[in-house]
Amino acid sequence: MELAIKNVSKNYGKVQALSHISLKLEKGAYGLLGPNGAGKSTLIQIITGNLKPSEGNIYFNGKEIQKEGKNYKRILGYAPQSQGLYDMFTAEKFLEYIALLKEIKKAEIPRQVAEILKTVGLTEAQDRKLGGFSGGMKQRILIGQALLGNPKILILDEPTAGLDPKERIRIRNFISRISKNKIVLIATHVVSDIETIAREIILLGKGNLMGQGTPENLCKTLAGNVWECTIHSEQYPILEEKAMVSNVQEMPGGTIRVRFLSEETSISSLQAAFIDVRPVFPNIQDVYLNIFSESR
Ligand code: ADP
Repeated sequence: MELAIKNVSKNYGKVQALSHISLKLEKGAYGLLGPNGAGKSTLIQIITGNLKPSEGNIYFNGKEIQKEGKNYKRILGYAPQSQGLYDMFTAEKFLEYIALLKEIKKAEIPRQVAEILKTVGLTEAQDRKLGGFSGGMKQRILIGQALLGNPKILILDEPTAGLDPKERIRIRNFISRISKNKIVLIATHVVSDIETIAREIILLGKGNLMGQGTPENLCKTLAGNVWECTIHSEQYPILEEKAMVSNVQEMPGGTIRVRFLSEETSISSLQAAFIDVRPVFPNIQDVYLNIFSESR
């Protein structure tokens, strides 16, 4: 199973939203990461077949998706960003309605709907109206509708938007579980949504591919460049001027623990100025910061 994005560009008038993007996706979860305006939604719209690229094409198992039409739509599940759900529908009726729109055989619908309600943990809420659902429940039913028809490709646009940390974790674990036998593409600007579940992370910035790889390999690119030290808060402006700060944590006694990026060659001046500067293993947040503060 392979989804190939070949040399895809998209212009909106003079705005180039995507510039010569080529990617290959196989089974597993992929994180599409980038700041607002990076082109994530545009790429997703093109992959779902809702938008035509200005240049290039998308191929599923070697076949051009634009030419496949309904055959492609049938193997595709899409959970859009908006939570503009049908508030008056119950969870069960909503799934039945979407199943009809997806032209799933009528006799098949009750079984599939029951199965999906179970998968997304909403069986007990099946008779409740969507209008009364929490943010996390709405996201789950939105992902649930995308799973109708057991799609081979699942596209999730900002699946944790507006959720509290607990709900985020639940959605993340849930996506991880369902991504075993599918190509799952998750667009987000929240690093923690995908860093532990994605087999690969795709970094998009201003329409360009800024990086791609397993979380481990992306982190390795920064090995030796991420540090931590504990300083007094009044020293912070000096450190911030010299290094790219990735995280700040308040500590007892008026001190702060600062995580920052600095090339190994320039660390000695920092080590002279601040005690206790020690190397730490990079994470995806550091990678993100490194790539996107450079491209600003
Ligand atoms: P993201 O989803 O990463 O925030 P988008 O794909 O929405 O990025 O946007 C990429 C770029 O294309 C931005 O500069 C945005 O302003 C522009 N853009 C997106 N949609 C349109 C549109 N329909 N018309 C004109 N410009 C657009």
